[in-house]
Amino acid sequence: MTQAAIDCDIHPGVPEIKALLPYMTAFWQDSFVHRGIDGFDMMSYPPNAPITCRPDWREQGRRPGASLDALRTQALDAFGIGTAICNPLTGGQVAVSESMGAAICAAVNDWIREHWLDKEPRLRASIVVPAQAPLLAAEEIARCAPDRRFVQILMPVACEMMLGRSYYWPIYEAAVRHDLPIGLHAGSMYRYAPTSTGWPSHALHDYVAQSQTFEDQLLSLISNGVFNKFPTLRVVLIESGVTWLPGFLWRAIKTWRGVRAEVPWVSRSPAEIVRDNVRLTVQPFDAPADATVVERIVNQIDDDRMLLFASDYPHWQFGEDETPLPPGLSDALMQRIRVDNPLATYPRLQETV
Ligand code: ZN
Repeated sequence: MTQAAIDCDIHPGVPEIKALLPYMTAFWQDSFVHRGIDGFDMMSYPPNAPITCRPDWREQGRRPGASLDALRTQALDAFGIGTAICNPLTGGQVAVSESMGAAICAAVNDWIREHWLDKEPRLRASIVVPAQAPLLAAEEIARCAPDRRFVQILMPVACEMMLGRSYYWPIYEAAVRHDLPIGLHAGSMYRYAPTSTGWPSHALHDYVAQSQTFEDQLLSLISNGVFNKFPTLRVVLIESGVTWLPGFLWRAIKTWRGVRAEVPWVSRSPAEIVRDNVRLTVQPFDAPADATVVERIVNQIDDDRMLLFASDYPHWQFGEDETPLPPGLSDALMQRIRVDNPLATYPRLQETV
């Protein structure tokens, strides 16, 4: 019998602030209501954009991903998923106020615990943290980590600074202490444009440009020595696409060989570091549905530990007649991607909770 898959990226629809108020202190409840921002909708994907929800998964009058019953039938049962990791894409990280961001993130963590984890044993979740305040983020990790159903720390890939800077190291220290990977998901705190030459005009450009941000942040983590300081830290790139990786590795290795005197703490090839410490989810698999092309890309990545199964439910990354995995993968590699690699990446998934 085929072993149930582990889905490393699903998105329960995060409600507006009003629904999160019960999970906040009296101060924040008053503050959101008195400022008139308790109706703030934190959905990061435009609700009606096609990519936000596969058409056959849309429910009239409900936000994409809002229904647990729909998640059960449309994703868990439909794709043979035994465990799925909820990644709430929350506006808490967009708040400029550190304390407001921390209050929203904490409320989302408590909300997901009560409304999703307590109701469906197949679900696990990421801890959303206020990346605008690394010390507060570390406190939130310490608060949530005792609940072993939290299996990862989630941040948008585009933060206020390059992620290799020591400013963020309290988050990595907490991640290592609690044996939780850092998940970087496509998305932004909207402090800077996603391109190096300014703001794009359309969601099309913004979304395509995300893979460049993933490359930048990955190289920042490597060149600032994060993986030397925290050798056991695992970073999962979520919804980053995967086809940029071979070209990125080639350029990173080639240039590192030429200028490594500048970064003596990068004592191993960037490719070696990436293969040991970095993982990628497979949706969107940004290549044609052609088995030969897929095989070539997998061969270029040259490490069968790196890819993790993900449906990205309810986002529309593949059609009704397609599966979340691309064609052309061997049975052995499918087993790694669907089960073995997620279990190795997220040690808490090996536990019965
Ligand atoms: Zn996603």
